[in-house]
Amino acid sequence: MTNFKKKAIASLVLFSTIPSISHAQFCSPNQLPWLWWSNLAYADDATSGPLPSPNTYSNWIGQAALKYVATDMDVGMGPNGEGEIRFFNLDLGATGTMAAAFPFHGGYNGLDCAYLIYGVMHPSGLCNWTTNRADYGRIRLNDHYMENPITISYGGPLSVIMHEVGHLIGWNHSYPGCTSFMNQTWTLSSPVDFQIWELVWLNGIY
Ligand SMILES: [Zn+2]
Repeated sequence: MTNFKKKAIASLVLFSTIPSISHAQFCSPNQLPWLWWSNLAYADDATSGPLPSPNTYSNWIGQAALKYVATDMDVGMGPNGEGEIRFFNLDLGATGTMAAAFPFHGGYNGLDCAYLIYGVMHPSGLCNWTTNRADYGRIRLNDHYMENPITISYGGPLSVIMHEVGHLIGWNHSYPGCTSFMNQTWTLSSPVDFQIWELVWLNGIY
């Protein structure tokens, strides 16, 4: 028997003696009251900066798209179906939100699915999971945080962009205690990959 198998058996015994709730059982997606139009979206990159290549928004948007492309949700880099996500950047300073997502139904001049009030997203009630899905989104990135070398070195912009795309396609902040890139409080240790329980939801619904 290999060491690997011995370890696996030891793990099973360990789990069988602990009847507590595991993350897999406890964590479930916290859904917003809308879904994205389809499993297709394309990035409309209107960003500049914030730092020279490779630390540009365009680079991180591309990396975030690859994370989604690996799921059933295909956020590509060109027009490949309904759903446009426009990325732009501003320097809003330290008091501005790090990033924000603005979903719409019927394009930019259509219905606002949510409003940002003091940095917190509030669903408008105009969008839903069936007839009024979000089909256009804007993602605003705050240069103030994204230009921080510490933020960059921890892959911060990647997890922030994944997080904001998550909002557009119907993901709310994760429940406390759950490892998720949708954690409400972004930290330097925020994951830049989907968790298993997140993939199950994402691929089940799209
Ligand atoms: Zn958020």
